[in-house]
Amino acid sequence: MDIPRIFNITESAHRIHNPITPDKLATLGAALRLESGAKILDLGSGSGEMLCTWARDYGITGIGVDMSQLFTEQAKLRAVELGVADKVKFIHGDAAGYVSDKKVDVAACVGATWIGGGVSGTIELLARSLRTGGIILIGEPYWRQLPPTEDVARGCLAHSISDFLILPKLLASFSNLGYDVVEMILADQDGWDRYEAAKWLTMRRWLEANPGDELVKEVRAQLTSEPERHATYTREYLGWGVFALMAR
Ligand code: SAH
Repeated sequence: MDIPRIFNITESAHRIHNPITPDKLATLGAALRLESGAKILDLGSGSGEMLCTWARDYGITGIGVDMSQLFTEQAKLRAVELGVADKVKFIHGDAAGYVSDKKVDVAACVGATWIGGGVSGTIELLARSLRTGGIILIGEPYWRQLPPTEDVARGCLAHSISDFLILPKLLASFSNLGYDVVEMILADQDGWDRYEAAKWLTMRRWLEANPGDELVKEVRAQLTSEPERHATYTREYLGWGVFALMAR
């Protein structure tokens, strides 16, 4: 079981697999006023940077579940590197339907809401692991500017304009689900560059190291087209944020 191999190639060098930067991730951890020993569940935990750095900086404990074998291995190594291997556990597996044995203080899905079939389904899934009064964290794109055409939405790698909302409407949608938005950290264009542009050097180096691989054509095509696509579409039109929610 794994995610499509192309992501394991293009994001192999990423510690954070979304447009949030290390400083914003730390700001989010501080903003949540986490108590030492707080329990966090992270669905789609990637390379584990959130749980590992928050374990080091704020003393949390956590479980992360991710379908990428590579990212999960990287998360375990990162935990050892930061001296928090006794505080965090990373499970390689499908997080769809994953509910923790013990209730957690924070239940997160940061940039992987397809796991629950969309934002509302993911909130429902996370709520099943959450203690009363706990916090749900959702990382999700929104339209920074509404795309004028469906072509522009597709340029942002969305299927259609209706995939995402503008920020006020996304916040309203949380409210409509019965949640207070109690904190948020928004990515900026530099953060998008860290996420997208970091793939380009990784792809270039991978092409040099793997000339006979079956994915060479696909990676070559992406490396050629991605900088212009990113600058034209994602960087201009897409926003991204992590939203902290508490049930009313
Ligand atoms: N939250 C992490 C990773 C976000 S990228 C971070 O912020 O860095 C999305 C992640 O979801 C990837 O790591 C991918 O491997 C994982 N993923 C995709 N489908 C999944 C599934 N069904 N179950 C668990 N993880 C999944």
